Amino acid sequence: MTKDLSIQWKRDDYVSISGTIDEHANFDALLSRRTDILYIDLKDINRINSSGVRKWVNAIEKLEDVELHYINCACPVVDQLSMVPEFIGKKCSVESFDAEYVCETCNNTQIFTLVVGYDIEPGLKSYLDGPEKFCQKCKNKLEFNHNPDSYLFFLSKLSKKRKK
Ligand SMILES: [Zn+2]
Repeated sequence: MTKDLSIQWKRDDYVSISGTIDEHANFDALLSRRTDILYIDLKDINRINSSGVRKWVNAIEKLEDVELHYINCACPVVDQLSMVPEFIGKKCSVESFDAEYVCETCNNTQIFTLVVGYDIEPGLKSYLDGPEKFCQKCKNKLEFNHNPDSYLFFLSKLSKKRKK
């Protein structure tokens, strides 16, 4: 299922982007306002293809003077964060992102939004597993449903020092 890209400004420093980032993606609405700090909510991105990645990187380059904070990055976004270093701009940090967990006891899958610096430390050399989470149905320990080494790779490049 693809869904058109939608860019919605919630506040002067907070924009929510949802839908599909592909060759049709138009980021004019994202570039239309200038702020020093911008929070970009990526929770409802459902798909990104390689043309979309290039469009995103181009748009982010135009915001190189802005302190960007990616929040609530959906799983397709996290895949790109880890595979394409340029997906994270120079003055950009990732505040929180989604990860899928699966319960091997009751087969329940759950998405958790992990907060960088709280649920998981940035700046480690390697990531062997996601943070421990428990099944909301049967309370058993959940399995991280991604290859942690590749899925969490982007965290290695983030600075350990967190500014509040
Ligand atoms: Zn369970």
